[in-house]
Amino acid sequence: MKRWFLPIAITVIPVALSCKTIRREVKAPDPYFEPALATIMTQFKRDAAGFGKPVSSWALAKLRVVSFVSDVERKRAEYGMTADPHGDTAGACTDAKVTNKVGEGALEYRLSESSWQEIWISQQYAHDPHGWQLKELVYHELGHCLLGLDHKPGPEHGIMSSSIHKDPQWIAANWDRMVRELFGQR
Ligand SMILES: [Zn+2]
Repeated sequence: MKRWFLPIAITVIPVALSCKTIRREVKAPDPYFEPALATIMTQFKRDAAGFGKPVSSWALAKLRVVSFVSDVERKRAEYGMTADPHGDTAGACTDAKVTNKVGEGALEYRLSESSWQEIWISQQYAHDPHGWQLKELVYHELGHCLLGLDHKPGPEHGIMSSSIHKDPQWIAANWDRMVRELFGQR
């Protein structure tokens, strides 16, 4: 008997997926795309194009870092975000902005700004770069960063719900449906 065929098999990992926008002066990082995550990102872009919702070049240019981090909460703290009281955050899509003051004259004062996005994925998902949980997690954060989507509550249990699914077999069995829904298809 394969347990994952039970109808009540939808179980989720009780971790918050933190995806809030922050505004703080932090140093803009050099672009970095972790190879294992970049592979998933390539699949995401292919799926997006396949559903007629290609990712905009503007959104892609803004996404500067996609990497594993040892502690998402600590990374959030570095960027001035308050810690999630529930702890154990699986991933985050973060907006950051750096502001440089240009000119100090009484009549001349303006700011130059640059903003970017970063995706942080907890290192605990790195052990299985082909795993379904990692794939769902990266698609979730790309949904925030590249598609501008918010969490989607409700019974759908889709990629944009606020927890990732615990059972890799359930994710595999529901993947095509969830990807269709992510890109606005039925
Ligand atoms: Zn999220």
